[in-house]
Amino acid sequence: MEILKTVSTVQQLVTAAKSKGQTVGFVPTMGALHQGHLSLVEACRNRCDLVVCSIFVNPTQFNEATDFDKYPRTITADTQLLAEQGCDLLFLPSVNEIYPSGVDNAKHYDFGLLDKTMEGAYRPGHFAGVAQVVKRLLDIVLPDQLFMGLKDYQQFKIVGKLIDIEQMPVSIVGCPIIREPHGLAMSSRNVRLSTSERQQAAAINQALIKVCKNLHVEGNSVPILNVIKQNAIKYIEHNIEGAKVEYLSIVHADTLAGLEVWQPEIPTMVLTAVRVGEIRLLDNRRIDSSCA
Ligand code: AMP
Repeated sequence: MEILKTVSTVQQLVTAAKSKGQTVGFVPTMGALHQGHLSLVEACRNRCDLVVCSIFVNPTQFNEATDFDKYPRTITADTQLLAEQGCDLLFLPSVNEIYPSGVDNAKHYDFGLLDKTMEGAYRPGHFAGVAQVVKRLLDIVLPDQLFMGLKDYQQFKIVGKLIDIEQMPVSIVGCPIIREPHGLAMSSRNVRLSTSERQQAAAINQALIKVCKNLHVEGNSVPILNVIKQNAIKYIEHNIEGAKVEYLSIVHADTLAGLEVWQPEIPTMVLTAVRVGEIRLLDNRRIDSSCA
C-alpha cells in the first residue's frame, strides 16, 4: 500500500492505473476505522482493480467544534488495517491540500428535502460540508465506483444527488450497516461511550426492529403509525440511561419525505438519531419483509 499526501501523486498513480485499463474504486473515510469501514474496502476490493481510500477529518462538516476536536484519530492502527484489507493507495491529505483556497467557498447545491430533514435539521451546514469534501475528493481521485455506507443513509442519498447534479461519471455503491455483536451500528464515535452505555445502546437497533415488525402488523393508519413511533422513542429512552431521541422518522426511502401510513409497495425506511451525553448515534432500517 502506498501512502500519499498530495493531490498530484494521487492523480499520477490513478492516471497510470486507468491507462492500463484498470477500474478505480474509492472509499472516503474520516479514520478511526472499524469493521464497518473495512466492509466498504472489501466491497471495493471485490469490484475494482485499484482500491483508493482516504482518511481526512473534514473540518467543514462538523457543526460543533468540540466534536471535531474530540473526533478519534488512530492513524497508525488505521494504516495497518487498510494495508491488511487490500487497499492500494491511501490518501492522507492536509486541510490545505483539500482546501487550498480556504474552507469558506463551498458551492451551494439544491438537494431539495434531502438535506433539510432529520440530520439536516439538527446539524446546520453539515451536508454542505459533506458535499464540499466529497466533490473535491471525487475531482481528485476520479474513481469509477464510490463506496459508501448505508449507516449514513441520508448522506448516501445526498451524495447520490450530488453526483447527478454534477453529472460525474462515477457510480455509487451503498454497503450494508455492520453492527457490533449485540446490534449497535458500528461507529467511530462508539469508543466515546462508556461500557454500560455501549451495551445499552443495543436498544436502538431493537427499537427499529420493533418498528418494522409493528408496521407489518398494524401500520396502515395515521394514529397507529404515531403510536408505533412514540413507543420506539420510549423504548430507547427507557433502556439507555440519559438518552434523548432527536428524531425517529418513518420516511419514503427515495425522497425522505415523512410517511403518515405504511404501504408495503412504498419503499420505506425508519431512521433515528439518539443523543447519549455528547455523543450522537445514528441508525436506520429498511422496512421490509425481513422483520415481518
Ligand atoms: P466516516 O469515517 O464516519 O465518515 O465513514 C466513512 C464511511 O464508512 C461512510 O460511507 C460511512 O457510511 C461508512 N460507515 C461507517 N460506519 C459504518 C457501518 N457501521 N457499516 C457500514 N458502513 C459504515
